[in-house]
Amino acid sequence: NNLERLQKVIAQSGLTSRRKAEGLIEEGRVEVNNQKVTELGTKVTENDEIKVDGVPLTKDPLVHYLVYKPRGVISSVKDDKNRKVVTELIPEIDERVYPVGRLDYDTSGLVLLTNDGDLTQLLMHPSHEIDKVYVAKVKGIPTNKDLKPLIKGVFSEGEKLKAVSAKVLSNDSEKKNSIVEITLHEGKNRQVRRMLEAINYPVQKLKRERYSFLDLKGMQPGEYRELTPHEVKQLR
Ligand code: URA
Repeated sequence: NNLERLQKVIAQSGLTSRRKAEGLIEEGRVEVNNQKVTELGTKVTENDEIKVDGVPLTKDPLVHYLVYKPRGVISSVKDDKNRKVVTELIPEIDERVYPVGRLDYDTSGLVLLTNDGDLTQLLMHPSHEIDKVYVAKVKGIPTNKDLKPLIKGVFSEGEKLKAVSAKVLSNDSEKKNSIVEITLHEGKNRQVRRMLEAINYPVQKLKRERYSFLDLKGMQPGEYRELTPHEVKQLR
């Protein structure tokens, strides 16, 4: 029988990422054959019964969805303030999925939802350097040169934040605002908003238009679609 590491089996069940599965084990929330297990290296087979918080793992098939999150939706699976969460945008599915990374409540755009813990872990790893392309409406009329510091890196709350590219797409000289495109590899909390704030062009509206090679062409806010097997393969 095939021996696998416990955290890997938990992640593959779609419950969470491998990193988070390790946390569950260390916190004493995992049982194998009704015995609490806190050792990370523990090996298990298909015949072992694994429970997390007393609930047996179910082996859902792996599913991958691309969602066009509207503003006013939380990128998590539950919200303590009862706001709408992103999984409510795909009510027809049975699998338990979770978002790959987050968009702010007020940010619209592309979010991936999956129960594929290994893929999530891979995509979230900084060494993967995935392009995340944002289009922001900002207050003020920057030139491309004004945006240059974003590529070198700017400081916000003691943290250095860097963009891969930053350019002006258009200006509205009457309304005194502009549309800029920012590409990130990093994914720090409120990164685009903090970076543009740091150079005094505060964000008024923000949308993620692209994640790696995936975009929102032909989609409306609130819509979703399943990734094709080819797209999933390309992401790995
Ligand atoms: N940067 C932000 O400021 N917000 C997001 O939601 C994503 C990137």
